[in-house]
Amino acid sequence: MTDSIATLFIDGKWVPSSTGETRTVICPADQSEVGVVSEASAEDVDRAILAARAAFESRVWADKPASERGDFLLQVADQLQERKAEFARAEAFDTGKRLVEAEGDMDDITACFRYFGKVAGQNPGRLVDAGDDSVISRVVHEPIGVCGMITPWNFPLLQAAWKIAPALAAGNSFIIKPAELTPHTTILIVDVMDKLGLPAGVANLVLGSGAVVGAPLSSHPEIDLVSFTGGLVTGRKIAASAAESIKKVALELGGKNPNVIFADADYEAALDNALNAAFMDSGLLCSAGTRLILQDTIAEQFVDDLVARAEGIVMGGPLDEKAETGPLISKEHRDKVTDYVKRGIEAGGRLRTGNHWGGAELEQGYFYAPTILDRCTAENPAVVEEGFGPVITVETFSTEEEAIAIANNTEYGLAGAVWTSNSGIANRVSRRLRHGTIWINDFHPYLPQAEWGGFKMSGVGRELGPTGLEEYTESKHIYENTEPAVTGWFPRKG
Ligand code: NAD
Repeated sequence: MTDSIATLFIDGKWVPSSTGETRTVICPADQSEVGVVSEASAEDVDRAILAARAAFESRVWADKPASERGDFLLQVADQLQERKAEFARAEAFDTGKRLVEAEGDMDDITACFRYFGKVAGQNPGRLVDAGDDSVISRVVHEPIGVCGMITPWNFPLLQAAWKIAPALAAGNSFIIKPAELTPHTTILIVDVMDKLGLPAGVANLVLGSGAVVGAPLSSHPEIDLVSFTGGLVTGRKIAASAAESIKKVALELGGKNPNVIFADADYEAALDNALNAAFMDSGLLCSAGTRLILQDTIAEQFVDDLVARAEGIVMGGPLDEKAETGPLISKEHRDKVTDYVKRGIEAGGRLRTGNHWGGAELEQGYFYAPTILDRCTAENPAVVEEGFGPVITVETFSTEEEAIAIANNTEYGLAGAVWTSNSGIANRVSRRLRHGTIWINDFHPYLPQAEWGGFKMSGVGRELGPTGLEEYTESKHIYENTEPAVTGWFPRKG
């Protein structure tokens, strides 16, 4: 039993796993050891859920004035900035991403805590006109209760923040399970909240596999809401499991995001952003612009220029100052991306660059070079499936209608972009695209004030913005009759 590894946080205490099991976390850039963490058992998860339930029923957090809950989130934001270097290093070593990218993530996470800190309590509900002066009718928003949160490895703390901040703003208790490969920044943020005096049981952290630790968060009867960010296959399992006990479900799943470029777009800006859209963070963004959809008159030149630029992208680990992008998360993941590209080529995609693992100096890491396949058809598996790696597929169109049809030809609907200098085209296309976020002449920016989420199989519900807070509440109608009277509905007979 490894008692010294106490990285589970249950009912206000740092504890080891009840089985003593641990997991070694490695940096995917060079396979160096990052740390050893506890691996929770089913019994640990059960204790964490019951602690969250007890904290919620005690109203210790739910009944605090909303402005105090908001102040708490603002203090978390301040701590994140004070300890930014420590957080960024932990994120960079767990994910392999460059330190500078991890530092940017910490600023985004801070902005998320600040946003929900400021809006906590700004939604007191509304009065409803009952059409009767003796009636006071109002709708109020109450915390939903105990929230189970499951997060992925690509933006570990950012995805956690999108859930933790609104959940606490609304007065809930929660149990969070980060991806098993990237637990360290979630451990750090729970430590921050503990030190700032969050009451015991309100925040609980369990670490471990999806099957043992994640699954109960969607099936346990004491969970009221399960909020999941991750892949479609896991999302389906969670939705099915939550349906058994009629839990509220929020799902942020994958994307197959179109980047539509018309011939009249600012060429240099579109070219530069097409690289960022797909290759930033090694393509490990759910919103990565992996489907490049080019107007046929510019396609050949655009792809030639894109290939030349992509070949200059430097790969490297977190501390490599020359690096512009990092590795994939694991060997298994790189094998999946390699196979995905192989199938894309077999289906007729022409490999223009990439599809290799970098030079000898990178061989300890799970690198995969920026890859471009052109001449892709709609049926090509590389166009259809979310590869989740730095891979662009190229399709072409001639008319606006064709561009819209190609961009919408996916089971996903997370995000997309349109590039044109014609604002009529920009507005028509952006309204017709069936994706949750649309950029016009840009790619990637998002705001904590604006909702994020997917159409179709990209998910259910929204994070961020006012709707992101509402997800963590139940609406209740309170109807008060100020002049109670006999109704006469059941007059006594005889
Ligand atoms: P994943 O689905 O494999 O894992 C996500 C989390 O679910 C992990 O914590 C994992 O341990 C857990 N899990 C696995 N099986 C489970 C089960 N049966 N029950 C409960 N939990 C379980 O996803 P991933 O590979 O970590 O992340 C990549 C995916 O996440 C991509 O598809 C990406 O598009 C998506 N993503 C979406 C968004 C968004 O905002 N829509 C953001 C980031 C990532």
